[in-house]
Amino acid sequence: MLLSFNTKLSKRFKSQSQRIRVLTESWVNNQVFCPACGCDIKHYENNKPVADFYCLNCKEEYELKSKRDSIGNKVVDGAYRTMIERLQSSCNPNFFLLSYNLRSLKVSDFFVIPKHFFVPDIIEKRNPLSASARRAGWIGCNIDLRSIPQSGKIFFVKDSRIQTKNNVLKSWVKTLFLKNEKEPLAKGWILDVMSCIDKLGKYKFSLTEIYFFEGFLRKKYPQNKHIKDKIRQQLQFLRNKGYLKFLGRGKYEIT
Ligand SMILES: [Zn+2]
Repeated sequence: MLLSFNTKLSKRFKSQSQRIRVLTESWVNNQVFCPACGCDIKHYENNKPVADFYCLNCKEEYELKSKRDSIGNKVVDGAYRTMIERLQSSCNPNFFLLSYNLRSLKVSDFFVIPKHFFVPDIIEKRNPLSASARRAGWIGCNIDLRSIPQSGKIFFVKDSRIQTKNNVLKSWVKTLFLKNEKEPLAKGWILDVMSCIDKLGKYKFSLTEIYFFEGFLRKKYPQNKHIKDKIRQQLQFLRNKGYLKFLGRGKYEIT
């Protein structure tokens, strides 16, 4: 995998945004493999509203978002309503996120967020466009990356360091169990507990440590009167799916 853009391609474009689009798209087309199966991916010839790339083998689809310098916490996406509808119909693509250095014209970070990490919770409604705007009243959305657990960000390139293909493919398989969880509330709970585990910042942890997040989860789910039970239920689920290992005496380990 090379990190440099092929700058020859962008010479005929005048606007910076067009140039970057051509450079980033061709980079993905030539350097990136499908994280679901390891085969080649291809750019859609005609602009499709829902995705930019597809896998020649397993047909997974990917939408590409690029940002200068760093990805940050939020990524601007299209219309809010369309996004929510897409999540509900489960025809949403996976997301490729790319950050680049404008001076060196090299990729600094590139990761994929599998579509099964997308729940309405992470889609933030933006303010409607003002009355003077060309599309007055139109409502866009942001994807809030902070609510996505670490395991939902699978890096190909991190801080300009290329990760092994084997690691990318293994990380993809690890959370595939989320695909079968169709009910948004149930999935929301699993993802929240996965994020709480991330926040502890270690591979081994105890039930007592996870209970630190009881207050945070109570705020998020005020209807639920049994937060601790709910936490234990998610840990059990994650253990059954092989995401966690139970070490005994209230201790867990991320596999
Ligand atoms: Zn594939």
